[in-house]
Amino acid sequence: MAPKTATSSLRDLPKVDALVGHPDAAGLVAAYGRALVTTEIRAEIELLRHRIREGNGGDVRAEAVIAATRSRLERLHTPNQCRVINATGVILHTSLGRAPLAPSVMAAAARQSAQYSLLELDRESGKRSDRDKLVADLVCRVTGAEAATVVNNNAAATMIILNTMAEGREVVCSRAHMVEIGGSYRMPDVMRKAACHLVEIGTTNKTRAADYEQAITDRTAMLLKVHTSNYAIVGFTEMASLEELVEVGRRRKVPVVYDLGAGSLVDLKPFGITREPSVPELIRQGADLVCFSGDKLFGGPQAGIIVGRKDLVAAVKKNALFRMMRCDKVTLSLLEHTLRLYLDPARALEEVPTLNLISRSAAECARAARAICARLKKRGIAAETRESRSQIGGGSTPGDDLPTTVVVIKSLGGTPDAAARRLRMGTPSVFCRIEEDSLVFDPRTVLQGQIMELVSAITAQRK
Ligand SMILES: *Cc1c(COP(=O)(O)O)cnc(C)c1O
Repeated sequence: MAPKTATSSLRDLPKVDALVGHPDAAGLVAAYGRALVTTEIRAEIELLRHRIREGNGGDVRAEAVIAATRSRLERLHTPNQCRVINATGVILHTSLGRAPLAPSVMAAAARQSAQYSLLELDRESGKRSDRDKLVADLVCRVTGAEAATVVNNNAAATMIILNTMAEGREVVCSRAHMVEIGGSYRMPDVMRKAACHLVEIGTTNKTRAADYEQAITDRTAMLLKVHTSNYAIVGFTEMASLEELVEVGRRRKVPVVYDLGAGSLVDLKPFGITREPSVPELIRQGADLVCFSGDKLFGGPQAGIIVGRKDLVAAVKKNALFRMMRCDKVTLSLLEHTLRLYLDPARALEEVPTLNLISRSAAECARAARAICARLKKRGIAAETRESRSQIGGGSTPGDDLPTTVVVIKSLGGTPDAAARRLRMGTPSVFCRIEEDSLVFDPRTVLQGQIMELVSAITAQRK
């Protein structure tokens, strides 16, 4: 039968029931269920009816309508998230999901979360317990802090600390720390929302301990230090150290709080990252509270981890906001298993992906780059290697970058922008950098086992 197009009339439209029962639709019904298939067939017929009325016709044969329905169902079931290979060299890429999680951690959390769990139950007494218990002791153990709690992210952690300790009172903070993290997260706005009064001190480039001390009044609730993790002020600068603030705070009986942001638990100086203080270091130096993100350098799920003095942590947990910010069982499980990797720092460096990528040596990156290059050449793609730098990203460690060797492809066909788009749209989706009209791939952020996939993905997008 010839396709009825322009001449189709409403009378030619097949019946929904006939289509659902059609042999061509049997596979769809088995895969997607009768109800959904019926809904989508109805929608497709509605579309055809509209087209016919508009005089645009349409293919009304049963086979054609079912084929169109199949496309609808496939689109509906295509995951919005696809696998991504990050060859940008930015380790904590916020748009690409920040910290990749350790496979062993994911597996353990998946096993636990698919079943009932001991989220808030003490099995010895059979009584209700505190969900924080699942992770707090481990956090204390690996940070050296006296007490700990967790909320949904570090922005929430900052907010609840400010609101708990300083509602209606003053927070002394340097002008150099009036940071914007991204989006609408600006320190002065957060202070307003937390109902605290910001007392700005010092200048953008210089703030001394004496500036903090002079600003202290009987309304002062805390001295706040914010890690300027997404930019660096260099040149004629001076910033009171945490130790100096702690000295002032102790003497004047004002708590010192540090919004650390990135929050590494291990010392990253051996890898050339010098401006990122570690959480244990800050606790040792006497910070009363420190908060940091779970999905930045820590390498776990999105969370805000609060550590420090027992009385202050207890007060945070009593705040009514706490309930709105508490973590779910999946996050807590991911945190627990990530924390356990840190019990042995050598194991953390190996198994926590962010740390593993940071600790890859320049020589390892160079070897990977040469391997990628050689494989591309075998497939007829001209590529070369060049020394470059990888970034930590995620608003951490500005100016601290790591030596690497990148793979440079001058042309993959079309403009570099068009080629980068093809790579992004492929499966898996590949992200690289464009520099001087070339595509640049940094193997530092290409995870274990992804190198061959990267080579295939690049080859597939050659034009
Ligand atoms: C990243 C960051 C935040 C926000 O943390 P999230 O976990 O993304 O909410 C807050 N403060 C500082 C200093 C940061 O670097």
